[in-house]
Amino acid sequence: MPAQVSSDVVERLLAEAGSAHPQECCGLLLGSGDAITAIRPARNVHPDPARRFEIDPQALVDVYRQAREGGPQVLGYYHSHPNGVAEPSATDRSLAAGDGAIWAIIAAGRITLWRSGDAGFEKLPYELAPR
Ligand SMILES: [Zn+2]
Repeated sequence: MPAQVSSDVVERLLAEAGSAHPQECCGLLLGSGDAITAIRPARNVHPDPARRFEIDPQALVDVYRQAREGGPQVLGYYHSHPNGVAEPSATDRSLAAGDGAIWAIIAAGRITLWRSGDAGFEKLPYELAPR
């Protein structure tokens, strides 16, 4: 089953990547099931933000608290690749927890989704959903 991504989310992810360039943008993917309906942008607090990302820990605290209080669930993470490579980097693979989270990578004006599973990242097809 493909994931669903709202067209609003697609526009926002592309805008986030564009405004962060040449640094990496990053944040959280929110929604329910495999339907991504919102994002929560976060500061990239990594000391080398042009090549790496680290989501501001406060953003993680905020979204998980909101999820517990009935807000949208945290489905995964997004970040951009200013070098335009539309697949997880070696660093991304080392960070992946194999927890089933969805990773969105924005590169060269396109968005690809990946599922972090036991065997590493698997490409996750998706379809656009109306906002
Ligand atoms: Zn990456």
